[in-house]
Amino acid sequence: MAIKYTIPRGTFDVLPKDSYKWEIIEAKFRHIATRFGYREIITPIFEHAEVFERSVGDSSDIVQKEMYRFTDRKGRIFALRPEGTAPVIRSYVENNLGQDNQIAKLFYIGPMFRYDRPQAGRSRQFSQFGIECIGTNNPYYDAETIQVFYVFLKDLGLKNFSVEVNSVGCESCSQTYNQALIKYFEPHLDALCNDCKNRLNNNPKRLLDCKIKTCQAITKNAPIMIDYLDDNCKEHFQQVQNYLKIMKVPFTVNPHIVRGLDYYTNTAFEFINNNLGAQNALGGGGRYNKLVEQFGGKHTPSVGFAGGTTRLLLSMENENLLDGLEPFPVVYFIALGDNAKIKAIEMVSWLRQNNIHVEFDLDRTSLKSQLKNADRLNASYAFILGEDELNKNICLQKNLKTGEQIELPLDNYRELYSMNL
Ligand code: AMP
Repeated sequence: MAIKYTIPRGTFDVLPKDSYKWEIIEAKFRHIATRFGYREIITPIFEHAEVFERSVGDSSDIVQKEMYRFTDRKGRIFALRPEGTAPVIRSYVENNLGQDNQIAKLFYIGPMFRYDRPQAGRSRQFSQFGIECIGTNNPYYDAETIQVFYVFLKDLGLKNFSVEVNSVGCESCSQTYNQALIKYFEPHLDALCNDCKNRLNNNPKRLLDCKIKTCQAITKNAPIMIDYLDDNCKEHFQQVQNYLKIMKVPFTVNPHIVRGLDYYTNTAFEFINNNLGAQNALGGGGRYNKLVEQFGGKHTPSVGFAGGTTRLLLSMENENLLDGLEPFPVVYFIALGDNAKIKAIEMVSWLRQNNIHVEFDLDRTSLKSQLKNADRLNASYAFILGEDELNKNICLQKNLKTGEQIELPLDNYRELYSMNL
């Protein structure tokens, strides 16, 4: 008996009935990013594992628990990319994209891989879209980055989401804050979950976004970063907020936004949809001023975000924003009889070459079943060509929305059809 294969756990097929939704989201993202001056960058699906280990951080969940790490036939250690920023920065440095001292504005769309526990809105292969604005510390660009995400979601028609911003400070204010956090959490050590216990000394900020209720209760009264920002960081954060107000991007300050990756400095933000359940972040990002240096480039402050396509799709479905957007044929061509089929092949070829979406099923023989199929596919017109029509040198054009039927002469069908459709 033949073996039936199943898809790997945590992955999914995007079936034809859904693939157009992905196309809509990706096309819109490309459009918006381009409108803001971003150019697409396409990096490989796998990189040297060190690209992530050094940048995302050895102590991060992504590197410790979630990365698909493998050895190739020559013993080199690679990883399927778990996120998009590190590869973009690797490429930026390798290809000297900053050589003219211009800001590099780059966007990407593509699959990422994390060995996560699968659940609604969380899978092991997922698609992300993101932008990176490389080469400026101006807080205007932190705000503009947030604005790109905001305009994108608004243009898709989404209403149910919020923008939450925070500052995680620079390296030096972050250190003072970490000490304050350790001091605060240490007396509660026994009540913390195991992950939090382990994180307390090497990455105490991560305790702030633990999802476990008992940890959250303790976190509620923890010191907040904003009280530990030095003057420069405070000013930077204030300016980001001012720009967002000028841009009319509504936001709230949430001191518990810390982001899971080690490389963030100053601004951190998330886009939240509370209707999505536990996995409620549509995306997030922030400023990462040290990353380019870590990759061997010169000091190059940068800011960016990444969002997840699946959660966006779920949000759009919840708000019925994808109804009626499935592509539909303009013409459903029905040919009945051998001679009519030959003529139909000629006509269908011409219509398709002229940019008209035509459905044509040479194997079906019944008029009734084909009309039913045309209806199911939501076609605008049925073209019907049988022996009778052929003898009269005409083709029937039936408007499937109004039922109106006209006869089109076959002689000059090219001219007529390009006018009519
Ligand atoms: P992160 O890089 O973890 O901040 O992720 C940015 C966005 O990517 C998240 O807000 C999600 O929308 C999406 N994302 C991250 N991990 C997953 C996953 N395992 N499955 C589906 N989407 C994900």
